[in-house]
Amino acid sequence: MVRKERHIIKHLIQLQDLVAARAQQQAAMPKQKLSQLDKNIKTLTDELPLDLRSNFNRLIQKNIEALAPITGENCSGCGFSLTKTMVNKINGGAAEMSRCPNCTRILYAPDVLLTRTVPRRRWGDPVKRGIERFSAPELMIPKLQGTTPEEVLLDLCENMQAEGYIEECADLHEAAMRREAIVSTAVGQTMAFPHIRGVEGGGLTLSLGISKKGIDFGGTTKTKLFFYMVIPTAASAFYLKLLAGLTQSFSTAAQRDTLLKAKTKEELWAALSKGTKVLVR
Ligand SMILES: [Zn+2]
Repeated sequence: MVRKERHIIKHLIQLQDLVAARAQQQAAMPKQKLSQLDKNIKTLTDELPLDLRSNFNRLIQKNIEALAPITGENCSGCGFSLTKTMVNKINGGAAEMSRCPNCTRILYAPDVLLTRTVPRRRWGDPVKRGIERFSAPELMIPKLQGTTPEEVLLDLCENMQAEGYIEECADLHEAAMRREAIVSTAVGQTMAFPHIRGVEGGGLTLSLGISKKGIDFGGTTKTKLFFYMVIPTAASAFYLKLLAGLTQSFSTAAQRDTLLKAKTKEELWAALSKGTKVLVR
């Protein structure tokens, strides 16, 4: 029997997205019940062929990004250089699933590859610590202009582009919107963590935008604080720690007020740096 490979890969990507969303919710809201997501995960898992099901479960427990798109001739998960034969097989949608010989992830040819260039560290640059490793004053937006989820996410994306952290917004913005469609990244307490996973190149990048009025972002309360992140595949496990660190750093109204009060990029950056000093290292 020849498997409909592309169909199964799509199915696995969908399943992986749900598992990732579940892990994110758990990191940000440890006490929250996740029944709907759990139900969807179970449905998709039950639809998999038996042999694949146990394989995939084992893989995803080892690494939350169990699938990795190939980038040219490399595994985007670990950078391992693949043989031409393997690359051709993957691009041709062969009947057999290909695994990276180095990190064992299931490899696939992406429809759209989300990429960015790697900003290079210059000699003499001071060693960065804490939140400085992922963010910078120019990525702070103390006053978001948008009034809908789509507009807000576009503001955040375009600012990253304008500041040279990504080249092109279109695909990334679409990916962020698709992620919100799975389940909102609003975690209550006026905070949301919209993001794009599986981006090739560069390190994890965080931008913070504030909407003083708040926006209906799918949470139980209006969302005022938007922690927007671009996450490379290699940083996906670390991302969950960062997410937990940020939610804990701003778990009280007084802590969040320090961010909400900021009027300039510099003030917002100072408040973010101070607020995360203990929990984000
Ligand atoms: Zn690999």
